[in-house]
Amino acid sequence: MLPYPSGEPHIGHLKNYAIGDAIAHFHRRTGRCVLHPMGYDAFGLPAENHAIKTGQHPRNSTESAIASFRRQFHEWGISIDWDREFGTHEPRYYRWTQWIFLRLFERGLAYRKDAAVNWCPKDATVLANEQVLADGTCERCGTLVEVRQLEQWFFRITDYADRLLDDLATIEWPQKVVTQQEHWIGRSEGAEVVFRCEELGIDYPVFTTRPDTLFGATFFVLAPEHPDVLKLNDSEEVRHYIARAARETAAERGAEGKEKTGVPLGRTVTNPVNGEQIPMYVADYVLMEYGTGAIMAVPAHDERDHEFAERFGLEIRRVIEDEDGELPYAGDGPMVNSGRFDGMHNREAFRAIVEWLESDGKGRPAINYRLRDWLLSRQRYWGCPIPIVHCDRCGTVPVPDEDLPVELPEVADYAPKGRSPLAAAEDWVATECPRCGEPGRRETDTMDTFVDSSWYFLRYCDAANDEAAWDRAVVDGWMPVDQYIGGIEHAILHLMYARFFTKALADMGLIGFQEPFARLFTQGMVTRDGEKMSKSKGNTVSPSDYVERYGADAARAYILFVGHPADDADWSDQGITGVANFLSRLYRAAAASSDPAAEPTDPAEPTVLLRKAHWAIDKVTRDLGERFATHTAIAAVMELVNEIHRSPDDPHVRFAVATAASLVFPFAPHLGSEVYELMTGRRVWEEPWPQADPALLAADTFQLVVQVNGKLRDRIEVPTGTSREDQERIARQSPKVEAHLDGKELAKTVVVPGKLVNFVVR
Ligand SMILES: [Zn+2]
Ligand SMILES: [Zn+2]
Repeated sequence: MLPYPSGEPHIGHLKNYAIGDAIAHFHRRTGRCVLHPMGYDAFGLPAENHAIKTGQHPRNSTESAIASFRRQFHEWGISIDWDREFGTHEPRYYRWTQWIFLRLFERGLAYRKDAAVNWCPKDATVLANEQVLADGTCERCGTLVEVRQLEQWFFRITDYADRLLDDLATIEWPQKVVTQQEHWIGRSEGAEVVFRCEELGIDYPVFTTRPDTLFGATFFVLAPEHPDVLKLNDSEEVRHYIARAARETAAERGAEGKEKTGVPLGRTVTNPVNGEQIPMYVADYVLMEYGTGAIMAVPAHDERDHEFAERFGLEIRRVIEDEDGELPYAGDGPMVNSGRFDGMHNREAFRAIVEWLESDGKGRPAINYRLRDWLLSRQRYWGCPIPIVHCDRCGTVPVPDEDLPVELPEVADYAPKGRSPLAAAEDWVATECPRCGEPGRRETDTMDTFVDSSWYFLRYCDAANDEAAWDRAVVDGWMPVDQYIGGIEHAILHLMYARFFTKALADMGLIGFQEPFARLFTQGMVTRDGEKMSKSKGNTVSPSDYVERYGADAARAYILFVGHPADDADWSDQGITGVANFLSRLYRAAAASSDPAAEPTDPAEPTVLLRKAHWAIDKVTRDLGERFATHTAIAAVMELVNEIHRSPDDPHVRFAVATAASLVFPFAPHLGSEVYELMTGRRVWEEPWPQADPALLAADTFQLVVQVNGKLRDRIEVPTGTSREDQERIARQSPKVEAHLDGKELAKTVVVPGKLVNFVVR
């Protein structure tokens, strides 16, 4: 995932790109052609808010952040194809963002409508549903989000709900991300049932997942935002109630245990299954965003309807039997109080009732989704302009492709005022209608930054193309992304939007694949002393401090060693020191064995060290290639380096050092390549990934028992077939044994091959 360039890179960036670089190096050396690009998600609120605070143009602060990111990526030695680098705020990029917008507009997938939208009062802009957190606050600034009625631009992502759901089965993503997307799309099967208000002659369709409980519907509730509420009852009390509900967030209104409130509307609707007139209410526990903004209330079988009925003294009529007689009851059972359906199991009655309603024209089977269309317009300055001209005569007119990009104008004041700051650029706003030539006005809202990042991976494939957003053959050659790496916080935002764009572009024949990211890896967070790092807590770890003190290799290798990269990891200064020491030990081993004359001329017998080297090759290959287990891969190289230090005179020591360098290269590329060249005179990145010799792996290990004067002092895992001499040497070097030999005279050494070494001392 491309970074959002703000300030300096933080430790999460180091982790993300260290993982990606290890994977890229590994696959390059296993013979694959690897595209490992970098770009910057450069538009958006943080840069703009920073600009407002400091008076600096957002372009300047963004570009200085980009320069800092670029410099540090170079320092870290991340192997990026810099020829493909771009920022999404550059006209050469957003020209094509606008071009894609127009393609979506042509197909009715981008449209404008008046809607109740989420409004962040602090950022003074609308937000997509995905940008409002579960507690009803703004994803960016934490302010409580309000609802406002405004005309806005939307992408018709709901057209793709089923495909976005079904195709999750075709990609290898972490289950937790798949589950979040499934829940966000929120497909539920049920029925649409029509309740009629005879007095006013209005039909109210409602969506219900429980048509089997229709006979238990004893009242009917509209959301306060429902456009008909005042038509039904224009009293002061109702107006007051609507105004109060508008000040509350959806999360507050829906909160469990919140006392139910509402106002009777003095009207009734007909329950279509039994012809009963049931009273209508307006109540804030019903939300406009879900279903149709109206519900049939079944207090015997729904918790919230039950609370409301108790509060307002409404009839609670059981229609599904259960043994314990509890109410409300949400389980299954035989039907009661349901006319001809009595005695039928409720699951059966579900279908039977829907069929019956359908034949009467009062309902039909229906599927409902939680997913709503993506609200993409923002009343902010620092974003991609929407390429539309408003003309009094022609309406909403797209800017012709040849006039793209519509460049972001310079304005003196980009502070948000509830309307887009672009509106102040009067010369820019005033333009000619591309269709009739009469005076027109440019659209002044900008696009949500998530639009910029919904297609950037396509541009990487053909980044220098000036004629088109991409060449389909080139993009089809690379895509989909084989391995995508990033944080889980994007589960329903970027990762949903990018899938939608990909499907829409595939439908237009512009690309030949349905999913952008075949495999996804979500990295864990880096914490400090168990706490989330944040500037306000003052517990952040700046990568540049550590790179300066320990070197980029130690910082990179440490962040990959501290635990499985999918898990959260706690940063420790002691830990990075340990990794830095390990790298120094590897370098010292190389310096000590750099004399080529030490190379055995004849193939030497396999030794413990040689077997250890092959074991490490096998282990790192599996850990890195199969399970992203960078921590155990690095630990394996550490073991090999320990073995090298135990056997400085081994005939295979140069091979072992070169192998350790080759294996550590994906994690610590500077030192890895240096040591490898010292040992072999060759460049490690041009070398194929080492292959373990199965013959040297086949040897099992055994536990070598080490005694001093017949007393057990250590047990050491050594390969089967270790020679008598090697057994003795390994035993002698055990720190636990050394302590007992120190300063004593060795009288005799007993070696039992494959079993034991006993030192007899005086
Ligand atoms: Zn906000
Ligand atoms: Zn016109």
